[in-house]
Amino acid sequence: MLKGGGVLYNTPMSTVYSLVPSPSHIYPDHPERPARLDVLIPRLSTVQADLLPATAATPEQAALVHDPRLVAAIDEVCRTQAPAVIDYAPTFLTPSSYADALLAVGATLACTRAVQVGEADNAFAIVRPPGHHAEPTRAMGFCIFNNVAIAARQALADGLERVLIVDYDAHHGNGTQAAFLDDERVAYLSTHQWGIYPGTGTTFDAPHAKQRIVNVPLPAHAGDQCFAQITEEIIRPTFEAFRPQMLLVSAGFDAHWNDPITMLGLSTAGYFHISKRLVELAVEFCGGKLVFVLEGGYDPHNVANGAEAVFRALTRPGSAFEVGDASPRWEPGIESRLEEIRQWHGFT
Ligand SMILES: [Zn+2]
Repeated sequence: MLKGGGVLYNTPMSTVYSLVPSPSHIYPDHPERPARLDVLIPRLSTVQADLLPATAATPEQAALVHDPRLVAAIDEVCRTQAPAVIDYAPTFLTPSSYADALLAVGATLACTRAVQVGEADNAFAIVRPPGHHAEPTRAMGFCIFNNVAIAARQALADGLERVLIVDYDAHHGNGTQAAFLDDERVAYLSTHQWGIYPGTGTTFDAPHAKQRIVNVPLPAHAGDQCFAQITEEIIRPTFEAFRPQMLLVSAGFDAHWNDPITMLGLSTAGYFHISKRLVELAVEFCGGKLVFVLEGGYDPHNVANGAEAVFRALTRPGSAFEVGDASPRWEPGIESRLEEIRQWHGFT
């Protein structure tokens, strides 16, 4: 396979995607709403990827990560009490949410399986509800079942030994970290704005799992330059240390500078750059096997542009992609922060 940083492909990638918009999973005035995908969906007809049909995951598959009592409780609340708010985020359930969440998991599993068995080179699961805040025993943070974590466990059950999850959503994926805190087969690396929901994700969260649970908490307005630094100084060494066989990406588009609920600083060009580098690292370290999974992102234009950047990275990583939406703010310096993280993990 191709080696080194500046990878260019000679043959087109075979890319698949799944789509679970869950129009009935909706709550008044809630930012995690079906309209998040309204700008993206009409554009999907132009992407160079094939739609993969999704079927619902089974409760047993959800239980690869979650306590079966949580899975049963979500079903019960949806049948008997919905619409209901189940935490302060607020996380909501409607009568259809249990089925919607199982379909989101199933779509993520379909993408992961297609890549794992070689039916596709790479994939993008465009699903809601999102998943990375959902812990083994608790649905929270707009998330019901942890799509990406369940996909990692299924990939391990189907024969892989090491899976890396990179999470560039603006929030820390506390649920994913909790799921794999003591599972040495999975590494988890998260970039996130420090000081916002859910409050986890310090550099020092997992002293027993250095080089495997890697948190990069960031100051407000950290953007394209910061993420480019992080990619080379933190993400690449994590690949080198862990040697994953597959990469899963929790792709949240709320790290865009004008997201309505966060304050990071990525532009669409920044999303393209980090996504393209992840594609290249996957080629270098894990035979190109990589699946992006949608998490947050609360401006429909940012979600559409970010998803388009991901598709471009998956299908034509040698090209460029931008839409002229650079952040108007100065980025903070993060050199000392990155040095502290590198020292903690022994990345030299
Ligand atoms: Zn988020």
